Formats: sequence, structure tokens, C-alpha cells
Amino acid sequence: MSTLPNIAWIGLGIMGSPMAENLLKAGYSVTGFTLEQDKLDRLAAAGGTAAGSIAEAVKDADVVITMVPASPHVEAISYGENGILENAKSGALIIDMSSITPQTSIDLAKNAAEKGIRVIDAPVSGGEAGAIEAVLSIMVGGEKADFDAALPILETLGKTIVLCGPHGSGQTVKAANQLIVAVNIQACAEAVVFLEKSGVDLNAALDVLNGGLAGSTVLTRKKDNFLNRDFKPGFRIDLHHKDMGIVTDAARNVGAALPVGAVVAQLVASLRAQGDGGLDHSALLRAVERLSGAQI
Ligand code: NAD
Repeated sequence: MSTLPNIAWIGLGIMGSPMAENLLKAGYSVTGFTLEQDKLDRLAAAGGTAAGSIAEAVKDADVVITMVPASPHVEAISYGENGILENAKSGALIIDMSSITPQTSIDLAKNAAEKGIRVIDAPVSGGEAGAIEAVLSIMVGGEKADFDAALPILETLGKTIVLCGPHGSGQTVKAANQLIVAVNIQACAEAVVFLEKSGVDLNAALDVLNGGLAGSTVLTRKKDNFLNRDFKPGFRIDLHHKDMGIVTDAARNVGAALPVGAVVAQLVASLRAQGDGGLDHSALLRAVERLSGAQI
């Protein structure tokens, strides 16, 4: 009989599926629920159990991990008679790995505590590749004892795992992460258009740039997307639009100015308005190309 905690996983999308599979490989039992049947089939094929509802997935779970798109989805799966809080055991631990507003995490922790359920916010960075390779950076908010309890599970999913402070702190750090990533992609996209219009060998240029101070994980991970104009997600522009809203709002609340972030937030919003919301965020290149005269 395994002594590992029973895990329920809600939200088996681009990130959730490979992360749940890493737990299965490590010997955990995982019961999952998500909206797409093909993702449930994928979990079952990997050795997990597909549940027919959230209630069924969480009823015997010691730990409930959630990985859904945004705050309204976290609220939808958590609250109400079919939600996690009504159906999980008292004493269960929720690890919410979705990227949502810090306030949603704070409210969830408070409401869950009334049911004897513990919560940490544990959003991630590292993208689909980081999820598959189990090298995610995981930024956690909540109580130290709950962080310690979650650590063996988080170590199966990521490499850099840090308790950042009380409930919501993980989300605040994740918002800063999304600001840095968006601005970095935008700078890379502008460099790509500039280099190409100048007639420089782009492949060689990006290699040498990535070896110096201009190098970044963004450039390493997204170089081929830029070179091949391959914008299959990855991380959807729709999700980065949500995150730019979170960071600009949170920064305004504390009186922090984000002048460059505000411009990039507008460029992400414009890309989405032009129908590119389903593309990978490296498609910021398309926005720069359009601004530079391309008819695409
Ligand atoms: P996704 O759209 O691929 O997956 C989301 C999943 O949530 C879907 O499978 C959907 O069925 C499920 N879901 C939504 N509502 C549900 C409900 N009511 N009940 C059950 N399941 C429900 O999204 P993703 O790319 O995996 O991103 C998930 C979260 O991780 C987001 O908050 C995103 O910002 C964050 N994130 C994504 C990446 C990335 O590279 N994709 C990287 C870091 C963080």
C-alpha cells in the first residue's frame, strides 16, 4: 500500500497534463477531471483515473491540485455544491497552480479555512517544455507548514521552488514574472524584425546574442518560434493578456509605475483584437511586423 498522498488533479490542459503525468511516473495515484474527454483519456492512458466530476475526483484526495486558466475558473471549480470546498475531505490541501489575481488566492484560502481545508497558491513559470521536463520554477504563497507538506510533490514538478510569503504572494511574484517575460519577448521580436530588415543572418545573430548579456531563457526557448514563424501554443496570447491585466492592476494598487509594461500590455491586447489570441506569445513578432509594414 502506497504511503504517498492521494492526488486529485483539476484542469488537464497544456500544463496540467504533463505535470500530472510526472506525478504518475513518480508513483503517486492521480484522479483527474477536466472539460475535454481527450485529456481524460490521456490521463487514463498514463495510468491515472479519469473522474466524471470534480466531486468524484476530490472526495478521497489528500491533496487537490488545480491548474485552470484564470480567476473565474478557479472560483467555478472551488465554490458551490459541486465545487472542491464542498466535496473535499476536511484536512485536505489545495495546491492552486493556476496564474490568477492575488486577491482570488487570498479569498480562496480564507473560505477554505472555514471548511478545515488548507490552500497554497503555487503558480509556475517555465512553459510547456518546463512542465514536460519537470524543471518549472514554482512561486508559493501560504503557510510554511503547508509549503513543507507540499514540497515533495512540488519537487516532482519543478526545480526552483520558493515560499514567497503569505497567501497571494506566489501570485504577486508570478505577475512580476509575466511582466518580465512579455517585455523580453517584445524586445526579442523588435530585434528580429530589425535584424531581418538589415539583411543579417538571423540564426547566427540570435545565437551570438544569446551568448552575451542579451541572452535569456525566452530567447533560448522561443528562438525556433521566431525563425520558423511557428506560433503553435505553448503559452497563448489570451493567457498573457490576462496576466498583463493582473500585473498592471496589482501595480496600480500599490502605486508602482510600469511604463514599459503598460505599452507591452497594449501590444498584447492589440494582437488579441486582431484574432491572434490563440497563438503562442512569441507571436508578438507578428505585431512588430505589422507595425513595420508587413501585410499579415
Ligand atoms: P489550458 O487552456 O491549456 O488548460 C486549462 C484546462 O483547464 C483545460 O484543460 C480545461 O478543461 C480546464 N478547465 C477549465 N475550466 C474547468 C472546469 N470548470 N472544470 C474542470 N476543468 C476546467 O491552459 P494552460 O496553458 O494549461 O494554463 C493553465 C494555467 O497555467 C493558466 O493560469 C496559465 O496562465 C498558467 N501557465 C501556463 C503556462 C503555459 O506555458 N501554457 C505557463 C505557466 C503558467
